[in-house]
Amino acid sequence: MATRILIPTPLRPYTDKKDAVDADGTTVGELLADLTKRHSGLKAHLFNEQGKLRSFVNVYLNDEDIRYLQKEETKVSSGDTISIIPSVAGGVETTLDRDRGVRLEQDSTGGDPTTGSDRELPSLTNDEIRRYSRHLIMPEVGVDGQRKLKAGSVLCIGAGGLGSPAAMYLAAAGVGRIGIVDFDVVDFSNLQRQIIHGTPDVGRSKLASAKDRLTAINPLIEVETYETALSSENALKLFEPYDVILDGTDNFPTRYLTNDACVLAGKPNAYGSIFRFEGQASVFATQQGPCYRCLYPEPPPPGLVPSCAEGGVLGVLPGVIGVIQATEAIKLITGIGEPLVGRFLIYDALRMRFRELKLKKDPDCPVCGTHPTVTRLIDYEQFCGIHPAAPETLTVKVQDNAQKNALDISAVELKERLDRGDTLTLVDVREPNEYQINRIPGTSLIPLGDLPRRYAELNRDDEIVVHCKMGGRSAKAADFLRSVGFSRVLNLRGGILDWIDKVDPSQPKY
Ligand code: ZN
Repeated sequence: MATRILIPTPLRPYTDKKDAVDADGTTVGELLADLTKRHSGLKAHLFNEQGKLRSFVNVYLNDEDIRYLQKEETKVSSGDTISIIPSVAGGVETTLDRDRGVRLEQDSTGGDPTTGSDRELPSLTNDEIRRYSRHLIMPEVGVDGQRKLKAGSVLCIGAGGLGSPAAMYLAAAGVGRIGIVDFDVVDFSNLQRQIIHGTPDVGRSKLASAKDRLTAINPLIEVETYETALSSENALKLFEPYDVILDGTDNFPTRYLTNDACVLAGKPNAYGSIFRFEGQASVFATQQGPCYRCLYPEPPPPGLVPSCAEGGVLGVLPGVIGVIQATEAIKLITGIGEPLVGRFLIYDALRMRFRELKLKKDPDCPVCGTHPTVTRLIDYEQFCGIHPAAPETLTVKVQDNAQKNALDISAVELKERLDRGDTLTLVDVREPNEYQINRIPGTSLIPLGDLPRRYAELNRDDEIVVHCKMGGRSAKAADFLRSVGFSRVLNLRGGILDWIDKVDPSQPKY
């Protein structure tokens, strides 16, 4: 009996790009075994060394999470659909900038930080009544709902793809106080989706640009900006004066930090996540509902899930997901409708299909369970397996000891060695469409996903330099090649972007 298994975008490189695979078996375990037999590259992504399903991969039978049933022994009937739902957050190549991460700046004077349901609701001015009239004539919102919005506050973590549309709609809707945490500057490559910023804003701080735009949309609200990276030190203090936290982060450390801080601070988390054509949304960390860790107790190892910078994202996708997050924030503040609590929404832009999966609070959740082990914020980079290596351990002298110690090579060192006439095999592990944009002369293209079946094209005795866009995927490629017996593999630190910066500025960046 063949059962359909839906393959999420991040795992499609291992199924020859197929989004669904029919597998044989009568239980979920048999089906997954058959799936990994048909597509062996999936095995390492789904199962750990002990053959157990990895904790950052969830498997659903129709819309039920099988972790709470008999897991792999769960019987499958004809017509059932299995969904594999891995955690998606961006990736490790988005670095948290620690140097800039401590300054806490508050542009606005803030006003009364009192939150909670017993506060007095402010009245509406005549200007506000004109502006919000389409809300006021709707019984579900009405004057009282609009007053709740005026008294309400949302903190957006990030002014990027998700934060842009979310903050703009929240401002337009009249949410009284909108906070934004960000420390980045606007880049040309942001404009394809981060619609809060315009072309004249390139090079400006995202906060300044976002604040100008939100104030232009609605000068009657307060916009507070925090030029800092969200950290374990500042998260609880930042969250405290807000009613709802809107998670627009693009990397796992900040994702887990946001979740844990929401649980500890008792703030609902309007969650969204995007990758290529697929988005996720939910509301986490409400009193009764599950949190992100109930769904994914642990993050995937670094490099397993590519970031948007590596994997790309359809520009309109964060528009859809960010607006869903804003919708949920507005519903939480006004108390209308059914919040997306205990439900996990998955949106596939290519198929134009929404799916909804049930999500239960895990009594054993390390943060929101009955016996929590995480009772204060921890080091989330370490938790996510990101140990930024000290520069001196990375900057090795390639000439001295290429075989034993050298793992990385800089763009400048690579250029010097090529100019010297050293024999190096250059391998680009990016995707063909990236290779079309720019390339280092003389490289052969073997996308990371193809490497397990194509590494035999390379000679084990050659000195090999692998590279990708920024160095994350190629580090994984280098590890893989070493694991199959290649001893002279170097990773181009900073990828082709660093090569363009330092060696060949004539090529375009993306
Ligand atoms: Zn939880």
